[in-house]
Amino acid sequence: MSFIVAIDGPAGTGKGTLAGILAKKYNLVNIDTGATYRCVTLEMLNKNIKLDDEEKIAQILKTIKIEMSNENGKQKVLLNGEDVTEKIRGKEVSENVSQVSSIKQIRLALSGLQRKMAQGKDVIMEGRDIGTVVFPTADIKIYLDADVEERARRRLKQNEEKGIQMSYEEILENIKMRDKNDKEKEFGALKVAPGATVIDTTNMTIKQVEQEISKIIDKKLKQKKKEAKIYAVRPETTWKKIERAVIKKLIYWFYRILFRIEKINEENIPLDEPCIVCANHINYWDAVGLVVTSKRRIRFIAKEDLFNNGFLNWIAHVFDVIPIKRGMRDLDSMKTCLKALKNGETLGIFPEGTRKGLAKGAKVQNGAAYMAIKTKVKVVPVGIQGNFKPFTKVKLNYGKPLDFTKLDSKNPEKDNLEQATKEIMDNIVMLTKQEK
Ligand code: C5P
Repeated sequence: MSFIVAIDGPAGTGKGTLAGILAKKYNLVNIDTGATYRCVTLEMLNKNIKLDDEEKIAQILKTIKIEMSNENGKQKVLLNGEDVTEKIRGKEVSENVSQVSSIKQIRLALSGLQRKMAQGKDVIMEGRDIGTVVFPTADIKIYLDADVEERARRRLKQNEEKGIQMSYEEILENIKMRDKNDKEKEFGALKVAPGATVIDTTNMTIKQVEQEISKIIDKKLKQKKKEAKIYAVRPETTWKKIERAVIKKLIYWFYRILFRIEKINEENIPLDEPCIVCANHINYWDAVGLVVTSKRRIRFIAKEDLFNNGFLNWIAHVFDVIPIKRGMRDLDSMKTCLKALKNGETLGIFPEGTRKGLAKGAKVQNGAAYMAIKTKVKVVPVGIQGNFKPFTKVKLNYGKPLDFTKLDSKNPEKDNLEQATKEIMDNIVMLTKQEK
């Protein structure tokens, strides 16, 4: 799994300098996406290609080779094998790059190239649309901003150090023009990505900004480390099987004593094919009841918070519970579930998402329907009846498996999803009311 830090913002906010420092500090590959747009601009200028010559642009994009490396902390850019590190920062390229980068055809190709450059790596990528377009799911999204005059002063200093001849006024005009173009672009316009942290660097030193971003990175890395432990599936060993069998028996008897459990039509769970068991969620004990009393091994999906408790974390790993993050589309969790179903396993899901979700008016989750349509497995609805007070009756009422194979598995559209989710919930509700 790769780690992606996206830094966006207008020219002169310190993106490049900070990306360099942070790349070194955290051992990340530093990708300057502005350099890719500058390379295409230089190539177009070299070959005298007009901005509206789609055919020639397409040809360039097909053959262009952009390579970036880091030598002694200094970025080196190669365009078709030639070192263009200095050339791409020159006046002509700077004046034209913004217009070149407004061309949709070029943006699409370069976004693809940038994603490829990052593939499988831990990267820090800076540009204008990294958090919005290239990597909207980046681990960290930062938007750097600063006063335009301050940015021009910084660029002037940088240029002087590199021996690039441009006056302050020229730089200021150029930055203003690029800001306008970048913000008004039809595709990949410069804007704050959802979830990004905005840092105004006008009155900050590079060190201060570095410290602020470092705090965000450190926190995320710590969280990722914890998540890796949570998401790691413990391999199926003989010891794990014994642990599971013993715990299942113990909880089963505890359950039998605490609640007078009754299973109705349990034969509705197929024993020889994967399925998704969907039930209403009344109490923490209902998932336990379904798992310990079932003939099939049911892998429940549970909120990640459960894994914060050491004891529950151990139990969850023994029963291969699948963690899911709150309030977002958790793709890792979805992938694990789909893999399990393809593997012939049984999943347990509470579509209400939370305890007594229906009564609380919570939005019913459509993940179960999505997976059922996608993998063509059946959904077994279960109506759980009881109030889970000690020594009272708890009924697990299993309904007939619901088949969604008639729905298009390649494209589980919104309507299909809603229709299937409603069918699942209607059956569950009916089973919670049914006597026998
Ligand atoms: O970052 P730098 O100033 O080198 O970028 C040069 C130009 O490339 C920007 O002014 C912007 O027009 C364009 N660019 C872009 N999208 C990116 C990176 C740069 O449009 N992700």
